[in-house]
Amino acid sequence: MNVADQFLVKKMNLKTLFKEIIRKSPISRAELSKITGLNKSTVSSQINTLIEKNLVFEIGQGQSSGGRRPVMLVFNKKAGYALGIDIGVDFINGILTDLGGNVVASQYKETAVSSAEEAIAILFSLIDELISSVPDSRYGLVGIGVCVPGIVDKNEEIVFTPNSEWIVKDLKSIIEQKFSVPVLIENEANAGAYGEKVFGAAKNLSNIIYVSIGTGIGIGIIINQELYRGNNGFSGEMGHMTIDFNGPKCSCGNRGCWELYASERAFYNPSSKKSIHLTRNELINLAQNNDAETLILLQKFGFYIGIGLTSVLNTFNPQSVIIRNSIVESQPIVLNSIKSAVTSRIYSISQNEYDLMPSALGQNAPALGTSSIVIERFLELVTE
Ligand SMILES: [Zn+2]
Repeated sequence: MNVADQFLVKKMNLKTLFKEIIRKSPISRAELSKITGLNKSTVSSQINTLIEKNLVFEIGQGQSSGGRRPVMLVFNKKAGYALGIDIGVDFINGILTDLGGNVVASQYKETAVSSAEEAIAILFSLIDELISSVPDSRYGLVGIGVCVPGIVDKNEEIVFTPNSEWIVKDLKSIIEQKFSVPVLIENEANAGAYGEKVFGAAKNLSNIIYVSIGTGIGIGIIINQELYRGNNGFSGEMGHMTIDFNGPKCSCGNRGCWELYASERAFYNPSSKKSIHLTRNELINLAQNNDAETLILLQKFGFYIGIGLTSVLNTFNPQSVIIRNSIVESQPIVLNSIKSAVTSRIYSISQNEYDLMPSALGQNAPALGTSSIVIERFLELVTE
C-alpha cells in the first residue's frame, strides 16, 4: 500500500468509527472493534484523534461481561452549534441546535415586508439574536442552514420563489459575507423531509414522501435514506401537477394545478364567503366547536389533498407519507378525509402499503432539517 492509500484508509477508519460512536454512544473501544472489524490498536489511535478534536469524550465505566469494566466513549454534542432557518412566505422561524440536533434557542418573526432590504434586516437581526445564544464550545457556530419556499438549484442559488419576491438569488453569499460561517441553502420541502427522517415521524425509514402544504404545495423525496433533488435540484414541484385540465390558470403557466385546490391559499379563498376573512386559528377554533360549514370546508380540503396524493403514491410507492400543515396536524377530520379520498382511488395493490401521518416536528421540521444538513457537512469536514 502506498502512502496516499494508507492516508485514505486511516481517514475512512476514522469516519467509520465516529459514525458508530454517534449512532451507539456510549460505546466501548472493544465493542467498536467488534462492530467495525478494525483491530484494537487501530481503534485506539483513531479514537485518540477524535478525543483530541473534542468530538468524543470518555465517561466513567460501562457494563462488564466479567473482568475490568470498560471506559465508555460518548459523542460530544456540545462541541459546536448550528443554525437552522426556515424562511416562509410571511414568517422566519430560526432554531439553534447542538451537534445532536437538540434545540438550544429559537426565534420566530413575522415578515409583513414591502422590500428586500427590510426582509434581510429582519433575517439578520434574527440570526444575530440566535448567535448571541451560542454557548462556549470548541467549534462555536459551525454553519447556518436556510430553507426557502422556492426552487433552489444545485449551486444553492434560489432560482424561483413564486410567493416571496424579496428572497434574492444569491442569499447564500449575502449571509456568508455578513456572518463569516458556511451557509447552505435548501428547498423548504426537502429540508422538512430531512428533518422528519433524522428526528421525526420518518426516523429510520428509507423511502419517504414529505408533503408541505402552505401557500403552495411542495414535496420532499427521500429514496434509500437520501434526499432526491433531481438533476438540477428542481424535483418535488408536484403542487403544479394538473388536477383539472380545464381548471383556472396558475401562476406557473399551467391550468388546474393541485395547489390551486389543496393549498392553504385555496382553502382560505374558496367560493364560501365565510372562510375568506378567517385566520388559521379562527378556523381551528370554529372546527373545535363543530361549526358545520367549517367541517365541510375541512373535509373538502382533505379531499383535494387526497386527489393529488393518490398520484404521488402511485408514482413513488413510499413506506410513509408525512403531511406538514398546521390544520392537518390539529384536525383529524382532514386526515380522515385525505385517507378516504386516497383509499377509493389508489392502485389497489398499493392499498395497505403505506403509512399516512401528520408531521411529528410541525413548524420546526424544515429548520431542524437544514440544521442537521449543516451538522452533517461539518462532521464530514472536521474528520478529513
Ligand atoms: Zn401551477
